[in-house]
Formats: sequence, C-alpha cells, structure tokens
Amino acid sequence: MIELSVETRHTSEMVEITELVKEAAIKTGVKSGLVAVFTPHTTASIVLFENVDPKLRRDFLEALGRVAPADLDYHHQGENAAAHIKSSLCGVRVVVPMQNAQLMLGEWQGIFLCEFDGPRERKVIVQVIG
Ligand code: ZN
Repeated sequence: MIELSVETRHTSEMVEITELVKEAAIKTGVKSGLVAVFTPHTTASIVLFENVDPKLRRDFLEALGRVAPADLDYHHQGENAAAHIKSSLCGVRVVVPMQNAQLMLGEWQGIFLCEFDGPRERKVIVQVIG
C-alpha cells in the first residue's frame, strides 16, 4: 500500500493523478492485478474522467454545483454540506485493472482527485491486489 499526498489549490477543482497512481502501482512490485485508488476524505472524491478537454472538468464541477448548490439552507453546521454531498455522489474510490505494469485505462480516461472543499492537502491511497 502506498499513500500519496496531493495538494489542491482551489475550493473546487479536479486534479489529474493518473501518473502518480501509475508510479505508485509500479513501486509495489506487483505487475498485474487490480489497482485500488481510495481517498479517506468526506469532501473529496476519486473519479475516472475524460482527460483531454479541461473545459469538460469545468462543466462537471458546474453540473455538480447545480445538484448541490453551495448557497442552500443546509442542516449541517460545518458550512460545507454541499462538498460532503458531492463527495458521496462521486465516490471515494476507483479500481483499474493493471496488466504487465500498464494501467488498462481507456484512451480518454484519466484518474482524478476531485476537491470540493479546498484548498487542502489530500491523502490518496493506492493498493495493488495481485
Ligand atoms: Zn462538514
């Protein structure tokens, strides 16, 4: 198991971590298996997303903002209810097959950490199940 640290810079953003995950997976020494990527937070997520057009990331964050707007009258005391809701909707893990030390991602797929309550230092855990 490898623990990564990812620094976010904005309240809300998507940070591509595909290369970090690939390096971590290779470091484990397991060449083929399932790569589990998990973040132990309740206001961030791990997703697979299209990794070519950065404008699409903006569209995704704006769409989530329409599902859980920041300015609703939430019951939660912490002022970050919208971030908790987005995190649960998007999930905190992905699993990607690995073959001969290559992540079997599709041509347009990247692994992203979604920040919903930043900027912060986020933990990402990578474990390869061989
Ligand atoms: Zn909270």
